[in-house]
Amino acid sequence: MSDIIQLLPDHVANQIAAGEVVQRPASVVKELLENAIDAKATRIQLLVKDAGKTLVQVIDNGFGMSVTDARLSFERHATSKIASAEDLFQLNTKGFRGEALASIAAIAHVEMKTKREADELGTLLKIEGSEVTAQEPIVTPVGTSIAVKNLFFNIPARRNFLKSDQVEMRHVIDEFQRVALAHPSITFTLHHNGNTLFNLPNANYRQRIVGVLGSKANEKLVPVNEETEIVKISGFVLKPEFAKKSRGEQFIFVNDRYIKNSYLNHAITAAFEGLLRERTHPGYFLFLEVDPKTIDINIHPTKTEIKFDNEHDLYAIIKSTVKHSLGQFQIAPILDFQR
Ligand code: ADP
Ligand code: MG
Repeated sequence: MSDIIQLLPDHVANQIAAGEVVQRPASVVKELLENAIDAKATRIQLLVKDAGKTLVQVIDNGFGMSVTDARLSFERHATSKIASAEDLFQLNTKGFRGEALASIAAIAHVEMKTKREADELGTLLKIEGSEVTAQEPIVTPVGTSIAVKNLFFNIPARRNFLKSDQVEMRHVIDEFQRVALAHPSITFTLHHNGNTLFNLPNANYRQRIVGVLGSKANEKLVPVNEETEIVKISGFVLKPEFAKKSRGEQFIFVNDRYIKNSYLNHAITAAFEGLLRERTHPGYFLFLEVDPKTIDINIHPTKTEIKFDNEHDLYAIIKSTVKHSLGQFQIAPILDFQR
C-alpha cells in the first residue's frame, strides 16, 4: 500500500475542535461574551431562544471588525490577541486560541454583523457549517452582533444529547452570571424567549453581586481585602449563617476570569472552620489579581482550570485573609446556634 496519511480538510478539523470547545449552548455564550469583553464593549446584550438550542446572540458595542477581519475571524487559529509564544505568558485578554468562532461556525448557522467606528458601512457575514453563504456591506451600529442558530444542526448525536431546556438554561445563566460578576463596569442584559431575566447596569462589585443574587444579598456580604507581594484579594464572603447545602454561590475569579480550583476553595472553607453548620458550604465572591506570568491558563480549551506557580502561598494567604475578615465583622457569636 502507498502512503496513507493525509491532512484533514479544514472543515473536518474545525468540527473536531468544536467537540472540545462547544459542549452545549452555554459554551457558545461564554465564548461570545468573552469576545465582546476583549473588544472593549461597555454594553453587552445576550439574547437566547429555547435555552440557546435555537439561538444564542450576543450584541456588543465594542470596536468591531474590518471586512477582512470579519472573514478571517472564522478561520482556525486566527486571532488578534497574541502574535507569538511569549505573549502566552502575559495575557490580558480572555481569548487567544483563535478557535472559538471557527469551531462554532462548523456546527451551527452563524450570522455576524460588525462595524468599526472609522468605517461608513459594516459587514454582514453568514456561515453555515464552515461555509460562507453570504457576505455583503450593511448599515449597522458600531460593534458586533453574532447570532448562533441551530447549534449542532449537522451533528444529530450531539443535538440529541442536549438536556432539557431547563437544564441547558441553568448552564447559560451560570456562564452569564460568572462573566457579569467578573466585569461589574460593563452593562449586561439577558433575554430568554423575549423575557428579561437580567438587566445589570454598570456598577461596583457589591452592586453587581446584589444585581445577580437579588437585593437580599446586600446584608449578607462581608468584605475581604488584602494585598501582598504575590496577590491582591478583594471581594466578599457571605456570612456563615447563609451557608448552603449546595455549592452554588462559590466564585473565584483570577484576573477577571472565573476559575474552578478545589484547592483554593478548600482554603476558604477552612477559614470558616467552626462557623458553619454541618454539611453546609460557605458562599464567596473572591477576586484575585496576580501577575499573569505566575499562572498558566493554557491547560484546557475552556480556560476554567488554570495552574498557579505558587498555589501553597496563595492557599495560606487566602485562608488567613478570609479568617481575618470574618473575625473583624464579629461573626463569632454565630457559633451559638451551632450547639
Ligand atoms: P480568540 O478570542 O481566541 O482570538 P475567536 O475565535 O473567539 O478567537 O475570535 C477570533 C477573532 O475574531 C478575535 O481574535 C477577534 O479579533 C475577532 N472577534 C471575535 N469576536 C469579536 C467581537 N465581538 N468584536 C470584535 N472582534 C471580535
Ligand atoms: Mg474568543
